[in-house]
Amino acid sequence: MAVLDQLTSQQAIDLENKYGAHNYHPLPVVLSRGEGVYVWDVEGKKYYDFLSAYSAVNQGHCHPKIVGAMTNQAQTLTLTSRAFYNDMLGKYEKFATEYFGFDKLLPMNTGAEAVETALKLCRKWAYEVKGIDENEAEIVVCENNFHGRTTTIISFSNDPVARKNFGPYTKGFIKIEYDNLNALEDALQNNPNVAGFLVEPIQGEAGVYVPSEDYLTKAKAICEKYNVLFIADEVQTGIARTGRLLATCGNCDCTDKNCSSEPEVKPDVLILGKALSGGAYPVSAVLANDNIMNVIKPGNHGSTFGGNPIAAAVAIAALEVVRDEKLAENAFELGNLFRSELNKYIETSSIVNLVRGKGLLNAIVINDDEESETAWNICLKLRDNGLLAKPTHGNIIRFAPPLVITKEQLLDCVSIITKTLKEFED
Ligand SMILES: *Cc1c(COP(=O)(O)O)cnc(C)c1O
Repeated sequence: MAVLDQLTSQQAIDLENKYGAHNYHPLPVVLSRGEGVYVWDVEGKKYYDFLSAYSAVNQGHCHPKIVGAMTNQAQTLTLTSRAFYNDMLGKYEKFATEYFGFDKLLPMNTGAEAVETALKLCRKWAYEVKGIDENEAEIVVCENNFHGRTTTIISFSNDPVARKNFGPYTKGFIKIEYDNLNALEDALQNNPNVAGFLVEPIQGEAGVYVPSEDYLTKAKAICEKYNVLFIADEVQTGIARTGRLLATCGNCDCTDKNCSSEPEVKPDVLILGKALSGGAYPVSAVLANDNIMNVIKPGNHGSTFGGNPIAAAVAIAALEVVRDEKLAENAFELGNLFRSELNKYIETSSIVNLVRGKGLLNAIVINDDEESETAWNICLKLRDNGLLAKPTHGNIIRFAPPLVITKEQLLDCVSIITKTLKEFED
């Protein structure tokens, strides 16, 4: 077999099993092509993608405008490192800071790197602006958080699988219950060493937990009261996924009528990744205003690939697509439709307890215990019926299609999902 021969699905799976580290447990399907909301496996079977690479592919697979910007830049200049200037990074930084309403952007590649960057930024701000004694700063995080896989980030995870035998852990984090304002106030009020509060506007990996409607605004107010930075990890919720440009949506110059109906909060530090590139390239960023970002000086932080010209060109195109194609509005409207259609089904279902979510970030909770195989088996059947999704935690299945999905496609998917679930009703 030559290296680039076309493989069968089984051959591709066998190769990964034999030669790749076993750090994932993929659904058995081998994809070789994508376009819009669709992906195809190596045997040519077509599927709706209802994971969107964990919300990285909000703009749809292989969006021609994003691919065009990428290939064009790839033929011109790919990487200079930040040892020199390049003629794309400044344009991108101006575009993205205006787009999201912040003074400055620090470019990185992956979500975890951007979270690390935000934590370092927060600590340095704590010592140099807030005046906390050196090495005493603490950052408040939430139980069941997911912020990535680095040593520091897993240090404040409470997922035993992600943590066990990776110690010793990084100190300086305090864990509180999510969606609990009293716990936040308690953590901040008698502790002058708290520098920041790191939070997901919706806990995606934990199972799409949407907090109470006033949680984020009130949490921000509590942070302000104690001079603590409110750090929003919008790696998964950002870039139109939840029906608004950002789930926090502070000062995003929203053309988007849905914003007015819900409370907005402007984070002090905003973390983006995933759909910042439309899934075409690893691009992440931390945004903040000058009073915070200016603590970072040459040599304090960096990345060889962060801010490279391809990333800059791709991110500009990806953000233009979100605006031009009104993806936030589409996610808002079709998200409401999706939940109301599924709720009709759930009324008479014994296998599904509920659907929850915002915009097109949704999940159903299967009526079975967390250790059961039911959600996994449902995902296998969904695959057979032409739709790809994956359980998050045991009995929870996340549904997050590309935001370019049309109403007709969404209704088609609702019927695939309900037809599949019916096979599991007893
Ligand atoms: C995916 C994700 C990350 C990590 O991003 P990577 O690119 O996988 O490092 C961080 N935070 C949240 C909320 C995420 O969903």
